[in-house]
Parts: sequence; structure tokens; C-alpha cells
Amino acid sequence: MSRFISKRFDTLTEYVPGEQPTDMKYIKLNTNESPFPPSPSVLAAVSNEAERLNLYPDPDCAALCRALAQLFSVSPENITVGNGSDEILNFCFSAYCDKEKGVAFPAISYGFYSVFAELYNLDYRAIGLADDFSIVPEDYFGLDRTIVIANPNAPTGLALGVGDIRRILEHNREDIVIIDEAYVDFGAESVLPLIREYDNLVAVGTFSKFRSLAGARLGYAAAVPELIADLNKLRFSTNPYNINRATLAAGIAAVRDNDYYVENGKKIVRTREWVTRQLREMGFVVLPSKANFVFAKYGGAISGKQLYFELKSRGILVRHFDRQEITDYLRITIGTDEQMDALIGALREILR
Ligand SMILES: *Cc1c(COP(=O)(O)O)cnc(C)c1O
Repeated sequence: MSRFISKRFDTLTEYVPGEQPTDMKYIKLNTNESPFPPSPSVLAAVSNEAERLNLYPDPDCAALCRALAQLFSVSPENITVGNGSDEILNFCFSAYCDKEKGVAFPAISYGFYSVFAELYNLDYRAIGLADDFSIVPEDYFGLDRTIVIANPNAPTGLALGVGDIRRILEHNREDIVIIDEAYVDFGAESVLPLIREYDNLVAVGTFSKFRSLAGARLGYAAAVPELIADLNKLRFSTNPYNINRATLAAGIAAVRDNDYYVENGKKIVRTREWVTRQLREMGFVVLPSKANFVFAKYGGAISGKQLYFELKSRGILVRHFDRQEITDYLRITIGTDEQMDALIGALREILR
């Protein structure tokens, strides 16, 4: 870093995205992307939009907010969109946390939460998980902090039921509760309908996983209109054109093509259940996932890190976290059946 950067970033450690290596062609099971391409109408919408790239996009993203509102049976005033849900989360940390109002989130969860907390110099509390890696709802009651929970959680894949999140909302009526639903479409239940009952709930979603648009960068938030106005205030104070024309067109088409993504989601869930069984037969401990990945450890003599390197040398990328509590585990994205066949084959060879 240069000597000119502000002192307030001295202790900031930036987020490290999953690797995207280019040295060879890998089977990529490390960043939870969809293995399926966007639907044909998304491709057509993007290519149609290309000739208008000389014009700024709609800063209100009105057509996309309307489409999402219809999908979720809420009003367009309940929706805003971001350049990936990471941007929405950034706005939430910025809007609802400060010197007086700290933040709390699970100790093992999406790595970006602690990065945002450090970026904004927040007092943050990382709340431990139960021994089985589940989130204990009571631990989040009445903390007098903004609360952020990924549901399903990452990298565990475990989900809380809506009833448990409702209890967390009930016990934090004067604080914002942000539920990050990046993986909700793979078998968990969305809390989004609860925005009608709770003016302290922000439900955050992304087009990156279930909707095959990780490369387009599109996320959304649903909440009461007052909270959406807060987030839009930050949006218009940082980048009013945060969603480019191609992504807006892609997003609208992807919402209209919901059935295509629902079908793909079913395939991924079927494959996830098959992979879980295969891994367990081979001696892995596999947490019961409600996401498009599994979190698994091999009980035997080979470490998580070694397994990661052995798979990489065979052209298969998975995610390993250098953290003591989960160092034996690998997070493995669910790809196509063919990709997962290759994974299981490689693991059998390594463990032989
Ligand atoms: C992938 C992921 C995100 C970020 O998604 P983008 O919309 O691509 O920014 C947010 N939260 C969790 C828990 C994720 O796994």
C-alpha cells in the first residue's frame, strides 16, 4: 500500500474471493456458481440491449423492481436492486450500523460480513455456532445490534426455519435483522413474505446462484418502503447507475423465465442428494445441505487441505478455508451430474 492511504484502513483485511485460475481448464466447484447457462431469453435480451449501451440505464431500475415485486407478490416500493447482493449488504452495513450501533453475525458464515464490519470500523460480535454447526436462534435475542444471518448459512449449508427467524425478529423489534438468502431457492424457506409483518426485516437475494447470473452482478433487497428508501439513498449517493443495461435486461428476462430456473434448481437438489449419499458411503461426514453446495470432511488420515490439493492437481477446484474450526472440511459446489461423477471418481482414486 502507499503512504497516502487513509490510516483508517491500516487494519482492514480485504475479502478474498474464491480462486478463478486460468492455467488450465478446471471443473469449477469452488464458488457456488450455477453449472447451467442463463436461459435462452436472457441471452436474447442481453444481445438486444447491446445497441443501446450508449445510453445510461434507468437509475430506478423500475421494470426490474416491478418484475421482482410480481414474482414475490409484493409492491415495487418493497424492492431495490444492487450490483450483486454484496453491494446490497454493503449498503445495509453502511445504513444500519455505526459507532453506536454494532453488528452481530454467526462466527462461521459468509466471509464478507466481517470485512464490511472492519471497513466501517464497527463493533462486531461473531456468535459461535452449536457443535453441529447450526445457528442457535436464542443467541440472537435482544443483542441491541444489527443482525446479519445467511439462511441457508454458508459454508455449512444448514438452514433455519422461518419460525426461528420470526422469533429472532420478535426479540429485536428495535433493530434491523438482515437475512441473506443467497441459497434459499435450493430447499430452504424464504422469509421474504414476513416483510409485511416486520418493519425491521431486510431480505436479501441474488441472481448469482439459482438464476445463473454470477457474471452479470445482480442482487436485490425486499423490505418495507421506508427501509428500501434508506438503501436507495445510499445507492443514489454512491452509484445511481449501479445496474448496467445488459444486466437490467438479463434480470428482467430471468424473472420472466422463472420455470427454467426452477427446473435447474430441482436438478441441482437431486444431484446434491446423490453426492451426499456417495460421499457418506466413502466415509465422509456431510452436513445436510439446503444449498447448492455440500460441506464435507473425511474422517481419515488425509487433511482437508491435502484433499483440496489432490483434487486441484486432477483439475477439480473446491473450496478449503484456512480456519482452525473448519480446516478438515471442504465446500463443494454442486455441478452437473457429469462434473460430480468426475469429483467422486477423483476422490475414490485419491483415497485408495
Ligand atoms: C454468493 C453470496 C453472496 C454474494 O452474491 P453476489 O450477489 O454475487 O454478490 C452473498 N451472500 C452469500 C451468503 C453468498 O454465498
